[in-house]
Amino acid sequence: MEIPMSRPMITQEDIDEVMSVLKTPFLSMGPKTDRFEKGFAEYIGTKYGVAVNAGTSALHIAIRALDLKPGEEVITTPFSFIASSNCILYEGGKPVFVDIDPKTLNIDPSGISEAITDKTKAILPVHAFGQPCDMKAVMEIAEDHGLKVIEDACESVGAEYLGKKAGTFGLCSTFAFYPNKQMTTGEGGLLLTDDEDVYRLARSLRNQGRSENSQWLEHERLGYNYRMDEMSAALGLSQLRRIDKILAMRQKVAEGYTKLLSAAGGVQTPVIDKRVNKMSWFVYVARVSPGMRNKLMDELAKRGVPSKPYFTTIHLQPFYRKLFGFKEGDFPVCEEASRSCIALPFFSEMSEDEVIYVCEQVKEIMRG
Ligand SMILES: *Cc1c(COP(=O)(O)O)cnc(C)c1O
Repeated sequence: MEIPMSRPMITQEDIDEVMSVLKTPFLSMGPKTDRFEKGFAEYIGTKYGVAVNAGTSALHIAIRALDLKPGEEVITTPFSFIASSNCILYEGGKPVFVDIDPKTLNIDPSGISEAITDKTKAILPVHAFGQPCDMKAVMEIAEDHGLKVIEDACESVGAEYLGKKAGTFGLCSTFAFYPNKQMTTGEGGLLLTDDEDVYRLARSLRNQGRSENSQWLEHERLGYNYRMDEMSAALGLSQLRRIDKILAMRQKVAEGYTKLLSAAGGVQTPVIDKRVNKMSWFVYVARVSPGMRNKLMDELAKRGVPSKPYFTTIHLQPFYRKLFGFKEGDFPVCEEASRSCIALPFFSEMSEDEVIYVCEQVKEIMRG
């Protein structure tokens, strides 16, 4: 059996929607982009949405909204995809890492207060693997210290914590639509906010720093070409129409994994916080002992089952070590997680037989 690591789910409606764009004169930002960003904001529950060309671009714009002075600090997690920390570096800020909770693998709020200095400007929590962070605690700390919060919700479209969707807690939030995400636009991302100033700034930054009503070649500030194109927006619009169905399919695949892997010796299935009343499964990440992880990956590969060591901790990436002098032992919970986590094949249309096949291989290998 050949099982891919992930696979986007593309329907005939998606194809028709994208093709329809090619019959119009609008190929970059136009009516579909407008509808997509409004529709997405409505789905998550914020006032404003700004569609951009990648989740990383949305993060960069969010950091620009903080107006960082050189050396100012943003508290974040080292257990993430590298973009959530790089965006701070883009603006000359300093990422200050706080270790993670050993169960949920999200930032541990109890470490945040200790990390706050007079240079701290904001907190950037990441809802890893589709599980929202403990946002009640994060928001309380932020309010106590007058800090802004940017949510990296790039992996958690539609997830809910205490009845509220991820991406509605902070000053703004970011989403991503790369093909391995729950819904895709090819490349693409989106920034959400309730704040009118952030909204206006984001629209200007994505479009070369143009002002709202300016002539085409009038630029108010240093901006970027972070525009979303209409083909991407059309795909996003079409995928958004069935996002709840997509999330339900992924929930079913995840449940299948958890049921079968719970019976496998030596495998820890994902731990979901009770306050998370809806998961948005981005990837399925199990944990095994660090001594067993790489062997499991190698043996799975021999049987045609791909897997990934997901995440590898950010602070030990070569250029972070060089820039900040990070070393092994700095964030022990995170390091342990990155030695023991294994992402298994996972996608919306994954069949029961495929899940069974993967789990059988895992069980056999773990039995030794
Ligand atoms: C996918 C992702 C992003 C953004 O990725 P792009 O490839 O730029 O769209 C940012 N943060 C996290 C945690 C992600 O998983």
